[in-house]
Amino acid sequence: EMEGKENIIKPMVEFSKVDIGMLPSAILVGRPNVGKSALFNRLIRRREALVYNTLDDHVTRDIREGVAKLGDLRFKVLDSAGLEMVATSGSILDRTAGMTANVLARSHFAIFLTDARDGLQPLDLEVGKWLRKNAPGIRIVLVMNKSESLDEHSGSLTGVVAEAHSLGFGDPIPISAETGFGMVELYEALRPLLEEYMIQKMEEKCHQDENATKDVEAKLPLQLAIVGRPNVGKSTLLNALLQQERVLVGPEAGLTRDSVRTQFEFQGRTIYLVDTAGWLDRTKQERGLSSLSVMQARKNLMRAHVVALVLDGEEIAKAKSSMRHAEVVIARRAVEEGRGLVVVVNKMDLLRGRQNTKLYEKVIKAVLEEIQTLLPEVTGIPVVFVSALEGRGRTTIMKRVVEIYEKWCLRLPTARLNCWLRKVMSRHSWKDQAAQPKIKYFTQVKARPPTFVAFVSGSTELAGTEIRFFAKSLKEDFNLGGIPIRITQRCVP
Ligand code: GDP
Ligand code: GDP
Repeated sequence: EMEGKENIIKPMVEFSKVDIGMLPSAILVGRPNVGKSALFNRLIRRREALVYNTLDDHVTRDIREGVAKLGDLRFKVLDSAGLEMVATSGSILDRTAGMTANVLARSHFAIFLTDARDGLQPLDLEVGKWLRKNAPGIRIVLVMNKSESLDEHSGSLTGVVAEAHSLGFGDPIPISAETGFGMVELYEALRPLLEEYMIQKMEEKCHQDENATKDVEAKLPLQLAIVGRPNVGKSTLLNALLQQERVLVGPEAGLTRDSVRTQFEFQGRTIYLVDTAGWLDRTKQERGLSSLSVMQARKNLMRAHVVALVLDGEEIAKAKSSMRHAEVVIARRAVEEGRGLVVVVNKMDLLRGRQNTKLYEKVIKAVLEEIQTLLPEVTGIPVVFVSALEGRGRTTIMKRVVEIYEKWCLRLPTARLNCWLRKVMSRHSWKDQAAQPKIKYFTQVKARPPTFVAFVSGSTELAGTEIRFFAKSLKEDFNLGGIPIRITQRCVP
């Protein structure tokens, strides 16, 4: 019955990934025989329970603790059955107050059980009073166990529900620890409490490691594609890069073209060049300036992490627009495919010299402006002006490539993102309360490229402008400029 629950919506908190030590604890309370042990066993299923000993009145009593699993929820559960509230003499309240206090102190919320078949008993009222007095800060969920045989239509269930309501802990949730009846309802009641607790915990933790270093999964080899029209200087650039750096494996004769991969090291990092052989060959065939195969470029883009798009600076100086159609297609494609993009404007040596100063500046201005206009969704794409022939700008290119790659691999912990979200929401002045996006939560579901999900309340989807606002803020606050980040949204009740 619970299995389907796990996939309905992406949970705000992935309990299965939370350290057991971080999970909240629920204590099961109720008079004897209401079914605390039965519920404990159902919640922990076959998992092992820890048994603690507490000493009370010189009698050792057991408290069992286990990890409860209910749908995707996880929490620690404490069975206080060993601390029976037995009314031997006088008030049970005095007797149990001391011994349960330390267990209660370790609990974050309580599941208060009553027995649907017995109806409300005086002892239930006493337990209720005791809870109210001793557990003021603890959220209490009232359940009415042994409800499996009560027929809802006969009115008997409504009767006992109303009766239990008088305990003052809201409507009870009818359940059966024995049959599993009502577990979905129990899940629905616990989920918001548990999530709220976890979010608060994660925020506390996030404040603690405010200065935590970036969680970068950038240790994997970087796949770089150098693309561009024929004659822009790709081969020259490649040679410059390989000359400077230690070549680990050169293209070997006899290998099929697709398997040829050049690999080199840049500042201790391995860089793979994607399908260099392909364009080297085609270039040699001199099929004319329009021979750039967009199909081939697309294939390369898919395999690359970062795409270095090479443009010819000299040509740009002469032309009206800086980018040709094919180049625009590649740049757009790279962004659409979620690749990192670095634009390399080559042959800048031809524009040096006094008489060319204006041209040199014109090219820089034209390229920067055009990139921004063409790809407004990705602000801050790095543009590097180089001379492959003279070997100028090689290090700059590689530095930009690595920077982009690291941003592309960035993983922001949920807690950190939600600290950020709170800050963004408070520092931005919304027109009025109603104009404020009903956003509850942010989480990064994927890196390479960073992909985020915004959880919004109810059915009020974020508008395009709001999505762009959050994307812009993410880029500014986490230095994610120049890479295509993605934000999708999900509605949560
Ligand atoms: P505890 O003293 O509160 O820990 O109660 P137990 O878990 O030991 O249960 C007391 C009795 O109630 C046992 O005989 C259980 O089999 C029975 N019981 C527990 N849960 C249910 C239930 O959901 N339905 C029915 N019919 N009996 C139950
Ligand atoms: P590819 O077709 O993109 O691989 O381009 P090539 O690397 O084969 O270069 C095409 C032509 O441009 C060659 O004659 C190169 O010498 C020349 N070239 C490449 N890079 C530069 C550069 O930075 N400055 C100048 N002046 N010429 C360059």
